[in-house]
Amino acid sequence: MDWIREKHPGEGGPAAIGIMGGTFDPIHYGHLVTAENARHFFGLEQVIFVPAYRPPHKEDRRISPPQHRLAMVRLAIASNPHFKVSDMEISRRGPSYTIDTVLTMQRCYPAARLFFITGADAVLEILSWHRVTELLESCIFIAATRPGYQLGQLRQNLASLPEALLRRILTMEVPALAISSTDIRQRVREGRPVKYLLPEAVEEYIYRQVLYRGS
Ligand code: ATP
Ligand code: MG
Repeated sequence: MDWIREKHPGEGGPAAIGIMGGTFDPIHYGHLVTAENARHFFGLEQVIFVPAYRPPHKEDRRISPPQHRLAMVRLAIASNPHFKVSDMEISRRGPSYTIDTVLTMQRCYPAARLFFITGADAVLEILSWHRVTELLESCIFIAATRPGYQLGQLRQNLASLPEALLRRILTMEVPALAISSTDIRQRVREGRPVKYLLPEAVEEYIYRQVLYRGS
């Protein structure tokens, strides 16, 4: 996979960038472990977390205000010099389509190879994503293992995709963390512990801002 590490001579800026999209309501160690392992395994100089303004596949669900989700990402990534956060989806408003984000990143980093990092659940549903062909042509997908989801089903689920596009989805094993934001929100609501599921600073933020208490 030498092409991944290949530099572009004469051009400044990072050569390989990971984009970690998500709702991050709240961000937890599953997201952070996935991003860090992708960074190391694929030699990415940076991973940019991009909290969605309005995830198209979560239209029917109440989501915390974007400022809170952005603030929690900031707290969670503060100690990792390779991690950054972008508010581009939040500032753009409207439905947060990954293709729009990837095309904007291409304009910001014209010399970089872009990798979009997802968990197994997300990549298994990629056929339902907006402009999926263009999306797969615009960046490489990294599909990380996630407890409860079978990455082995990927070929079967994506059977209608041409082989050339299928090859643009790379898979990656990450230490299994059966953590989800849904479970964390439910734990907070029920007064059960969330300690060690997410960074302490994020836990403190949740309690200080009284998030996830309502129904
Ligand atoms: P929710 O339960 O609200 O859907 P979530 O925990 O699935 O939250 P998202 O913000 O939906 O988190 O996920 C963002 C990205 O991170 C997705 O690509 C998802 O597959 C991936 N991801 C989330 N949790 C894990 C985990 N524990 N292991 C690997 N990948 C994960
Ligand atoms: Mg999810």
